[in-house]
Amino acid sequence: MEGMEYFYELFEALPRGGPGDNKSTRKAFNAIPKLPEQPLILDIGCGPGVQTIELAKLSKGTIIALDNHQAFLNKLVKKAKEKKLLDHIVIKNRSMLDMDFEENAFDIIWSEGALYFMGFQNGLKRCHQLLKKDGYLAVTEIVYLVNNPPAPLIQYFEREYPDIKTVKDKIDLIQNERFHLISNFTLPESSWLDSFYLPMEEELIRLNKKYQGNEIALGIFEEMKNEINLYKKYSDSYGYEFFLMQSISR
Ligand code: SAM
Repeated sequence: MEGMEYFYELFEALPRGGPGDNKSTRKAFNAIPKLPEQPLILDIGCGPGVQTIELAKLSKGTIIALDNHQAFLNKLVKKAKEKKLLDHIVIKNRSMLDMDFEENAFDIIWSEGALYFMGFQNGLKRCHQLLKKDGYLAVTEIVYLVNNPPAPLIQYFEREYPDIKTVKDKIDLIQNERFHLISNFTLPESSWLDSFYLPMEEELIRLNKKYQGNEIALGIFEEMKNEINLYKKYSDSYGYEFFLMQSISR
């Protein structure tokens, strides 16, 4: 995509790469019924790693934090050093489309707002291979929260993410891919606004000034502003769902 550097400049300035919050990460983690003392966790599309840090605190295990954008991984390393948690985190700059781990390796796979880069269903299949027998998968995924979303929203997602479905349809997919759903809940609106869209709005003001006259950059920033406005208008109709599931043995 033309102008990716502006997109990255915006995202590198944000606390997170997508909607989420530590309370929701903790809620999903605490719903896991049984874990080894030091679980091995894979965090797919970890971004700047807010949830990675939280997982390191919660689990006392080892987390492989995988992303294909080094600047995000650098932010994670800095934070983990400050919090003295780097011993629990292994950084891996690699595409999730090209993971080279052994099969049946992980106690938990975590992916907040990122599994869709593999395609949600394909991501479930890949995680099933990588998880140990009876391992856990926690993902957040964008969903319709209503059965009849407004037409402008349908048009938007047909363009941007045709794989969006209702919560029930995602659960059907999860069960078809040999996972048992343990729990699911919708992220609160605050997890879209507080650590994602509100800081993004502030950053957009700065970047719009910085790149005055640069049509490519301004076009990208306008798209992001439209995305924020869409959420503010239709937040009752779509959101992010946290799904915690357990792999059913082959
Ligand atoms: N989990 C983080 C969070 O909730 O703040 C980041 C979520 S952000 C929406 C998606 C992340 O996936 C970005 O950090 C991006 O760099 C990463 N990503 C996108 N495509 C990827 C790929 N093919 N392989 C690995 N990471 C990828």
